[in-house]
Amino acid sequence: MLRLHDTASGLVRELAQRDPGEVSLYVCGPTVYDLPHIGHGRSILTFDILRRFLEWSGVRVRHVSNVTDIDDNIIKRADVLGEDAAEVARRYEAEWWAAVDRLGALRPTDAPRATSFVGRMIEVVEELIERGVAYETSDGVYLAVEEVEGYGLLAQQDLRQLRTTERVDEGRQEEKRSPLDFVLWKLAKPGEPTWPSPWGAGRPGWHTECVAMSLDLLGDGFDLHAGGLDLKFPHHENERAQAVVLGRRFAQHWMHHAFVVDPSGEKMSKSLGNFSSLTDLLERVDRRAYRLLLLQAHYRSPVLVDTDSVGAAERSLGTLDRLARRAVEADLDPEAPLDRAALEPWVAAMEDDLNTVRALALVFDWAREANAALDAGRADEAARLVRLVREATGAVGLDLEGTAEEVDPAALDLATARDTAREARDWVAADRLRDELVSRGWTVEDTPQGTRLRR
Ligand SMILES: [Zn+2]
Repeated sequence: MLRLHDTASGLVRELAQRDPGEVSLYVCGPTVYDLPHIGHGRSILTFDILRRFLEWSGVRVRHVSNVTDIDDNIIKRADVLGEDAAEVARRYEAEWWAAVDRLGALRPTDAPRATSFVGRMIEVVEELIERGVAYETSDGVYLAVEEVEGYGLLAQQDLRQLRTTERVDEGRQEEKRSPLDFVLWKLAKPGEPTWPSPWGAGRPGWHTECVAMSLDLLGDGFDLHAGGLDLKFPHHENERAQAVVLGRRFAQHWMHHAFVVDPSGEKMSKSLGNFSSLTDLLERVDRRAYRLLLLQAHYRSPVLVDTDSVGAAERSLGTLDRLARRAVEADLDPEAPLDRAALEPWVAAMEDDLNTVRALALVFDWAREANAALDAGRADEAARLVRLVREATGAVGLDLEGTAEEVDPAALDLATARDTAREARDWVAADRLRDELVSRGWTVEDTPQGTRLRR
């Protein structure tokens, strides 16, 4: 059974399943007004690793992740670009899914857009007003956090501390009962996209969006609510506050991952680090290197992302890829039976709050032993160890080099011819050879070492 750190209790505890055999997971998704950054990549990969491991363990995962397609930032961006907010949102939503695909992550099982849930959000706000904890001001409807029992649970601070340490600048402060009160419904300014409501035309607040969608799609008492550490407060606290007032059983477990940092140790922003964006990173290195880099750290620890750290991860990946190729060359049995007893410590590490650091160390031990067994001509032992490596890497979405070249010599010839054409700057021929490879079912990637093929 997987044990995970739970932010609400501060404990590492078993991830209980409301419906046996299935985990219901809600991950806060993107606000689509810009290209995804490297920190988003960590979020996507962290929850992809979690999901894949659960699925590998035989558990179904219902993975809901919202798309915030109406928000102040989107409206601002649309103003700057002179475009319609909905257009801007659709374009960046497409960029988001492209990044998810390029990272090799699974798309959520449900990815509802906020704009398709406005009616439900209005019902939530109405009910919060009926229960006497929400109030209207001249710019919207707010929730009075002082009325919510246990407010501050996720922040692990009480209200008094929160009042002095946290700043929530939303709305007209002079009209709010407490500076921590947050907006449920925001009245529109002229020219902004609007939906009609009992309080006037406007749009829902972000915290209301997630509570409405998670409860609607996953039901009361769903298993796990997840996001980056920056969402713990106020976003998740405020989602939870609404559920408490509504008398609904909310998420039973809260998971938060740490940030990516630049070489100075600062939380990475767009201007820092030596990758300018997630796309930049994915264009410059093997996409699996970022996944491996994250697996080399615990998800609750900051990860340094720069060309050195990603480059080192790429080299480590090379070690595993070389073993996979060697196994094909040595004609090892790819169907060697899985040594479940040997895999056990790896499973135990993963189930211990996703201790991927320990789990990955085992994988590299097996790889070293497999190479030694190959050197010594002990084929059966090598096959057993390679099978362990493949199982444990595949379970977390780290597919080793498809060993394409060895398996398909014709494809290798085409790839070599393409490299020659590229060296000669014969782009027409290079493109034609690429199309040929694609039509044979290969994904063609350019690397500093030349064409790389993957199924
Ligand atoms: Zn959310």
